[in-house]
Amino acid sequence: MTREDRHPQGKRRLGISFEFFPPKSEEMEGQLWTTIEELAGWNPDFVSVTYGAGGSTKAPTLTTVRRLIAETSLPTAAHITCVGATREEVRHVAEEFIAAGVRRFVALRGDPQGGVGAAYAPHPGGFANAAELVAGLKEIGDFDISVSAYPEKHPESPDVPADIDMLKRKADNGAARALTQFFFDNDVFERYLEWVRAAGVTIPVVPGIMLIQNLTQLKRFASLCGASIPAFLDERFAGLDDQPQARAEVAADVAAEQIEDLVRRGITDFHIYTMNRAPLVSAVLERLGLGRDGEARSGAAA
Ligand code: FAD
Repeated sequence: MTREDRHPQGKRRLGISFEFFPPKSEEMEGQLWTTIEELAGWNPDFVSVTYGAGGSTKAPTLTTVRRLIAETSLPTAAHITCVGATREEVRHVAEEFIAAGVRRFVALRGDPQGGVGAAYAPHPGGFANAAELVAGLKEIGDFDISVSAYPEKHPESPDVPADIDMLKRKADNGAARALTQFFFDNDVFERYLEWVRAAGVTIPVVPGIMLIQNLTQLKRFASLCGASIPAFLDERFAGLDDQPQARAEVAADVAAEQIEDLVRRGITDFHIYTMNRAPLVSAVLERLGLGRDGEARSGAAA
């Protein structure tokens, strides 16, 4: 970890961003907008809206992003993937986002069309990976581009150096920051960050924070993503299967403790996977003692 990671510009500040996914039903849409209204009060640095697996949900992502831009003042990033599409098709999607007012992207290769874990084959006329996609977006305009990073390496990556090499290519092509896959072992993240800096990658690497709504479900998902679930989480959630309120309290404690520990290690920005639900996110931010206005937040967790 470099001095810049510990003391960015000599001051302490906690930055947050929220990730949402586009709703799949009217009910989920109502849930999402209630969540956005509640979480907007935390003044995030930006919010982002995911893009469906296999590029399947352009329309819902576009609809959600359009509404965020039209009805809120939240800086909004559209996730965009290049899986299963030609370069022209991806550019066309990007141009639709841009026409909607998007100036921030989260640029991803995307999961294989057969689903997470299936073999990935780049489209013959497409961008081969996220590094090429970043370069393609930068050719269109000088957008703020976030990319992914994998503290426990991407499951398809042969080893950590190959993974960090891909991150370096994305940074060299113009990515402004990396948002990480979720992780629960901060030592793993700190070691990863040291390797990233040693490889000459200087962009901020922002921890992705997953809030544990359901540990059993998360374990299934995590095994597909190559993220590990430390044993201490089993202990923390033991015996709470039938106690949703107690589970939520533990989930908020766990995430707040993880963030507090990362802050002690000099990390200042966090990307929160909201799962389109506000109460747990707000419970975590309240535990951190954050104010709902940016000024109060600037002094928090110092
Ligand atoms: P890349 O950065 O291109 O590559 C990922 C890793 O795979 C690299 O580190 C590299 O080591 C390895 N790799 C790539 N190509 C090769 C190759 N040819 N040979 C060997 N190794 C290779 N998915 C969605 O579909 N929609 C989303 O909205 C979305 N949002 C995400 C947000 C975040 C913050 C994160 C962390 C992931 C998100 N994903 C999303 C998941 C992502 O699309 C998958 O993890 C996908 O499998 C890889 O995409 P990437 O951009 O990380 O790929």
